[in-house]
Amino acid sequence: MTFDVLVVGGGAAGLTAAAYAARAGRTVALFERQARLGGLVQSVERDGFVFDMGLRAVENAGIVLPMLEELGLRLDFVRSPVSIGIGNDLIRVDSEASLADYRDLLVRTYPDSAADVDRIMALITRIMRDMDVLYGIDNPLFKDLMADRRYLFGTLLPWMFRFVVTIGRINRMSGPVEALLDELTDDDGLKSIIGQHFFKGTPAFFAMSYFSVYLDYLYPRGGTAALMGLLEGYVRERGVDVRTELPIVGVDPEARTVSDRDGGVHGYRRLIWCADLKTLYRAIDAAAIADPRLAGAVAARRAELEVSSGSDSVLSLFLSVDEAPETFAAISEGHLFYSPDARGLGDLHTRGLEELLARHADEPLPEEPAKAYLDAYFARTTYEVSIPVLKDPALAPPGKTGLVVSTLFDYRLTRRIQEAGWYDAFREHAADAMTAVLDARLYPGLGAKVLSRFTTTPVTLEAYTGNADGAIVGWAFDGARMPAVHQMQRVARSVLTPMPDVLQAGQWAYSPGGVPMAFLTGKLAAERAGKGRR
Ligand SMILES: Cc1cc2nc3c(=O)[nH]c(=O)nc-3n(C[C@H](O)[C@H](O)[C@H](O)COP(=O)(O)OP(=O)(O)OC[C@H]3O[C@@H](n4cnc5c(N)ncnc54)[C@H](O)[C@@H]3O)c2cc1C
Repeated sequence: MTFDVLVVGGGAAGLTAAAYAARAGRTVALFERQARLGGLVQSVERDGFVFDMGLRAVENAGIVLPMLEELGLRLDFVRSPVSIGIGNDLIRVDSEASLADYRDLLVRTYPDSAADVDRIMALITRIMRDMDVLYGIDNPLFKDLMADRRYLFGTLLPWMFRFVVTIGRINRMSGPVEALLDELTDDDGLKSIIGQHFFKGTPAFFAMSYFSVYLDYLYPRGGTAALMGLLEGYVRERGVDVRTELPIVGVDPEARTVSDRDGGVHGYRRLIWCADLKTLYRAIDAAAIADPRLAGAVAARRAELEVSSGSDSVLSLFLSVDEAPETFAAISEGHLFYSPDARGLGDLHTRGLEELLARHADEPLPEEPAKAYLDAYFARTTYEVSIPVLKDPALAPPGKTGLVVSTLFDYRLTRRIQEAGWYDAFREHAADAMTAVLDARLYPGLGAKVLSRFTTTPVTLEAYTGNADGAIVGWAFDGARMPAVHQMQRVARSVLTPMPDVLQAGQWAYSPGGVPMAFLTGKLAAERAGKGRR
């Protein structure tokens, strides 16, 4: 059968693309390699504890709520307030006024650098104003401008002028956050503590805007996957032909067919690829393309992507704890960004890691030097701690608490450990080390109260989603060239590929990625798929 729209990948982007294509009356098929839809957004239940395996909470970003409204979907969200902590000092972030508390936390921690802290705060304040412009209105792409004249004339048109001014300022701050921090302070601890919240090379504007993001977090009751469940219900109800456990392994852009792992061949008028992009180009036999211009364009794009890497990934520890939620609520909100050591990582995770990998480049990575690196890393990195039961009391058995603890983690290191044959020992070591740090610095007695635990690593994420390098938001920022659109005013182009009937969406299409941009590009791709041939 030939479908009007064939979507590959059932994550946030794929579900959105399928939803909008079906809403427009097209015949739609959705292929997903795993048994479950949702991609990186998964919540699992273990012995009464619900853990969010990927996304811990979602930012509205002027996109998520307007999109659900446009699709006529309702979800029970609660706010997901954030705490920030360094050592024994924690603050709760509940409004813009909390920025003053953040400033005081940094000054208490780095008293000799108070003037630098104030300079950084002034910049964050300015960027928060810009964020109010960028995300302060419901995204116009999710509005019916003809029907909603009040929004068009009262909100959108006045906003457009401010947007044009703001976007220029944002584009001028697209350099890496590390370079910006170097300009603002010489204090290595201060630089590290702010910078290590982010992927290496994160654009400065994006990083410095994060305080606004903290105020924008929502949590779907039942777990983050409830958001994906809602979209899945929508696409199934509208007759989308959903095929799970069926990866697409071949794409013929001239015949306009895809082939699945079991040898099935499926026709499409438009293909929307919402999965790992290297996989797409590896699935195309460029040598078999008859049109030489198309063959050249596909081969060039493939070569560009092959030398690009995915972003840093994450290592996560999931703990079921025999301790009441109230104990944790007394310490922080249910979403905490915590750095145990005011010195921060310094150059441990950059120069230190490169030296470790280079020193043992020609042999399996030995356990002892690597474990010394890991112990230093876990003692000084920043953790994102999510406590689902503090957002929804139904997410843990009575009197008990589930913790999701994660830190940014290098894919290559994980892979080298796996190749050296001590991956299981590494996971145990990481779980022990992370628990010990939290026990000593944040939750006294935690180690003795753990009922059960498990971990996921960058390799787990790669195996589950097929995402290159276990990436969680698409391309690395520190590569020579960003192989995706990364300027908001060009977002409509992010869904295009060199192949006229093949569109792309999701975290690999626009950078920085994330759920809101997966939704936005999914919708843009579906709309583009409904138009004439390019
Ligand atoms: C721990 C963690 C924390 C995060 N925190 C945030 C956050 O705070 N804010 C935020 O916005 N984002 C966050 N993210 C990122 C966010 O979850 C992702 O960017 C987003 O979900 C990506 O959606 P996607 O549809 O583009 O890709 P994916 O979710 O990767 O979906 C791709 C899908 O394609 C499938 N697939 C792959 N290859 C094939 C094939 N050949 N055939 C068929 N199917 C295939 C995969 O199985 C997968 O289901 C986080 C992610 C993680 C893991």
